[in-house]
Amino acid sequence: MIIVLKRGATAEELDALYDYVKQFKVYQQSIMQEKSRSILALMGDAVSSIDVDRISAFPCVESVYRVDAPYPLASREHSAEDTVVRVQGVKLGGGGFTIIAGPCSVETSEQISDIACAVRKAGASILRGGAYKPRSSPYTFQGLGRQGLSYLSQAKLSSGMPTVSEVVDVADLDMFEDVDILQVGARNMHNYSLLKALGRQEKPVLIKRGYCATLEELLLSAEYVLSGGNQNVILCERGIRTFENATRNTLDISAIPVLKRLTHLPVIVDPSHAAGNAELVSSLSLASVAAGADGLMLEVHSNPSEAFTDGCQALTIDEFETLASKIGALTAFMGVL
Ligand code: PEP
Ligand code: MN
Repeated sequence: MIIVLKRGATAEELDALYDYVKQFKVYQQSIMQEKSRSILALMGDAVSSIDVDRISAFPCVESVYRVDAPYPLASREHSAEDTVVRVQGVKLGGGGFTIIAGPCSVETSEQISDIACAVRKAGASILRGGAYKPRSSPYTFQGLGRQGLSYLSQAKLSSGMPTVSEVVDVADLDMFEDVDILQVGARNMHNYSLLKALGRQEKPVLIKRGYCATLEELLLSAEYVLSGGNQNVILCERGIRTFENATRNTLDISAIPVLKRLTHLPVIVDPSHAAGNAELVSSLSLASVAAGADGLMLEVHSNPSEAFTDGCQALTIDEFETLASKIGALTAFMGVL
């Protein structure tokens, strides 16, 4: 815990603080002088039992920070400013609103290119498309692999949009050379060797929250990437598993303001995998905008009934256009640029 002391605090005020801190079995670092300001550092396991609000209430205290957060690099204390992830001229985080859209899976060259051009025209600025699909059943479509990534590259060229695609295995990383954002899927959020490998390279990493993961666990996954040296991390809430079975997952709307408070990293929402039903996607998207998300990731297909994967939750192009214009109106109302 770092306690910044007020300039001009009296000896009596300081003594009152030191007397209070003494009751806890913590290690007190010698008081440092930084631009004539005094800083008191408290360390040790017992620090977690000290109440920040109680310390803040001492008249000599200017501010208090917990630096014993399990995810120091991802935490707000590390950076009061929002991290802005930049990819090919598109920004994620820092106040704007970014729409990522595209099919669940890349199916054919025409399919991905047609959808890319249509969603771009309607307001998307990043194209999604899975080539390696982590499916629950081994007997379902697993993605086109290398061929899918090549179709995605063609769509990137024809639409002019940067791309995001899921990497499921460290061994596949070389094939993602032309992909702009590397997605870690919900099932792989705990794959620490993959996260470490993504920390050692420079491309932005989009980490989806595991469906049984707490927000702290999500932030710890981000910490793996950040601690490897890669500061370009985007977090994605995509619904969690609850007792409710009316929807595929339960979208945790609270995750948005909670994450925005805990971390400086951009927070986006994937309402498609949360809902599992296209009819709900518009409402969940607008709720996410209202709750302060930095962007959305939406599954869109030109013919959802024939999609290889997740057709039931995919918006048609027309539905996407309608939603994109509502998002534009809501972000304008909210003053989001
Ligand atoms: C996806 O975005 O294609 C996907 C599989 O999502 P999730 O990992 O959230 O299930
Ligand atoms: Mn999908």
